[in-house]
Amino acid sequence: MADNTAVSKALQVLERQLNRPLMAALQVCARCGVCAEACHYYVADGELEHVPAYRAEELRKVYRRKHDFFGKHLPNWVNAQDLDEATLEKMAEMAFSECTLCRRCTFNCPMGVDTPLMMRALRAMATASGKAPEILEMLADAAIEKGKDPAMFRDLFVAQVAEMEKELQALVGDPNARITVEREGARVLYVALAGAHTILPPAAIFWAAKEDWTLSIYEAANYGVFLGDTARAKTIASRIIDEAKALKVQEVIVAECGHACASLVWDAPIWFQEQFPFRVRSLVEVMAEYVQQGRLPLDPSANPEAITYHDSCNLARTSGIYREPRVILNAVTTNLREMTPNGLENYCCGGGGGLVALPEYDDKRMKAGKPKVDQIRKTGAEIVVAACENCRLQLGDLNAHYSMNVQITALADLVVKAMRLPKSVAVPLPNAAAVAVGE
Ligand code: SF4
Ligand code: SF4
Repeated sequence: MADNTAVSKALQVLERQLNRPLMAALQVCARCGVCAEACHYYVADGELEHVPAYRAEELRKVYRRKHDFFGKHLPNWVNAQDLDEATLEKMAEMAFSECTLCRRCTFNCPMGVDTPLMMRALRAMATASGKAPEILEMLADAAIEKGKDPAMFRDLFVAQVAEMEKELQALVGDPNARITVEREGARVLYVALAGAHTILPPAAIFWAAKEDWTLSIYEAANYGVFLGDTARAKTIASRIIDEAKALKVQEVIVAECGHACASLVWDAPIWFQEQFPFRVRSLVEVMAEYVQQGRLPLDPSANPEAITYHDSCNLARTSGIYREPRVILNAVTTNLREMTPNGLENYCCGGGGGLVALPEYDDKRMKAGKPKVDQIRKTGAEIVVAACENCRLQLGDLNAHYSMNVQITALADLVVKAMRLPKSVAVPLPNAAAVAVGE
């Protein structure tokens, strides 16, 4: 009879995931401790359990019990351990609430140990055994359900976009400015997030750059990724991929969102074992290209406030997009104040890995965000820019929790503010709290 206990399901998932990179991560660690100071959780409280190598050891014990000679025969010698339900639960909570998959530990590890890869494996084990946070499951399933019958929400979405188009026309002073939805033959398919705040500013930028673009009816966010559930993540991503193929676009541009960009650029070609007939880039890369090509009428004096930029881990470390935001920022402000460290070495804000969606871990999230708060305060910035929705939500919560008294904004908002649009009328840009489109 098949063993269907939670522990057995988790172990089966671990076995299925064991490829060369994961096995290397599980087998290699010099126990040097360098990764401790790399992790914002450890920096925040100095607790041993927040050392990345300590976290990984929990999974290594289980791995050694099955795959190491001494682990099989003399488990106590090598600290190998059978997995039991209580340990699985503890490991699941750790993987979902005490690691944002930011990859800073990997960047700083002399051996290149991929701790987040192990934490992803743990998330997959937890999800398969029913131990994942319910909210992440619901968000992933809601996206899948919504995509099963797009006709159900398409008309409402098109009607909402038509209203937004009027705002765009007022904003840019052009009655002919358009936001088309799923227009076949457009050069670019832009995939936004839930909310007008990720559609209207990019629409103004596309208009100014004379881009041939159309809007996707789907959202770029992919909660299957946070669950470590490749099947659900693939289903969510496939909607956008199929849409892009059907419309015959040359390029898919993903809204300012770290995990959404990284999953479509890096994960999707591996999931589908396919080179797509279109390029995928972040809106950040595209805006930087417009700036360098002189396609945007920018006036940096429009943003005189002290501004700092928070590098999203998924954009900077995972996707190498850390120069492009600076290209944009240097064109839209004269008062950029960098955090230390920044770029590839930035500290995670503490909201990644889906944590901003999990209220049960709010206390941990606020605590883990303290190093980022300290970094921001040292810059003296009045405005904090982030090119990721999860980061912006986390920074907004940190702002309130620690009374930072800063304004949080997206790159596109600053770009629109810096654009010289003589015929425009003042249209307040929607913020992240605005009602989600198509919901
Ligand atoms: S820095 Fe790398 S090798 Fe050193 S303890 Fe951490 S994971 Fe192990
Ligand atoms: S990926 Fe980030 S949060 Fe996770 S252990 Fe490494 S440094 Fe810490």
